[in-house]
Amino acid sequence: MNILAFGPNGSGKGTQGAIVKEKYGLDHIESGAIFREHIKGGTELGMKAKAFIESGDLVPDEITIPMVLETLAKSKEKGWLLDGFPRSLAQAEALDKALKESGMALDYVMEITLDREIAKERIMGRRLCANDNNHPNHIAFEAIKPVEKDGELVCRVCGGELSTRADDQDEEAINKRHDIYYDETTGTMAAVNYFKNTDVKIIAVDGTKTIKEISEEIMQQIG
Ligand code: AMP
Repeated sequence: MNILAFGPNGSGKGTQGAIVKEKYGLDHIESGAIFREHIKGGTELGMKAKAFIESGDLVPDEITIPMVLETLAKSKEKGWLLDGFPRSLAQAEALDKALKESGMALDYVMEITLDREIAKERIMGRRLCANDNNHPNHIAFEAIKPVEKDGELVCRVCGGELSTRADDQDEEAINKRHDIYYDETTGTMAAVNYFKNTDVKIIAVDGTKTIKEISEEIMQQIG
């Protein structure tokens, strides 16, 4: 099964992605997380992408598109949930073409809707686990709240060290990411609408509901 996950930054897309990945045994492919791994590892790709990520701009397509398509191809057998890509109409078209060429079918498009101001507030409270990107932590949500150990907040799943992302604490970078997301002409909403105009099944969920309610709704719709 292959799923595309859409939702503004801060909508809970990563949290739901981690739940769906576990339930259906899929690979969870997050373009942003792949970039952060490259930056951590000091690779050439990471060095090229770093400044764009810090400012909340899109990394150029000639870097992003091949990187994501190569990762998807490796998960062809297992199936995937793709998060953070496509973020523009051009990326949507490139993905659609690549899927058709490689014989991979898209089963669902999941869209978490959330008001921009609420999404912005949520971004600032999330914390990254040093050990596993699929361990979501958020200081404002009881269900995924970090735990305290020796006076420090640590990952609620594995006790790992937590950090904040620089682009999550920078209001200008957040605004830029949301401008890109809500742009219906060439941005991410244009990519969402591109897939809505195909015959793929759409799973639309309201991002203001609880983590449990949203995951139950998604699973009900997948069946
Ligand atoms: P995210 O973790 O999804 O918030 O992504 C963090 C950053 O990685 C974004 O602000 C972009 O700079 C970059 N990025 C992630 N996905 C893409 C994409 N599909 N196209 C271009 N840049 C991306």
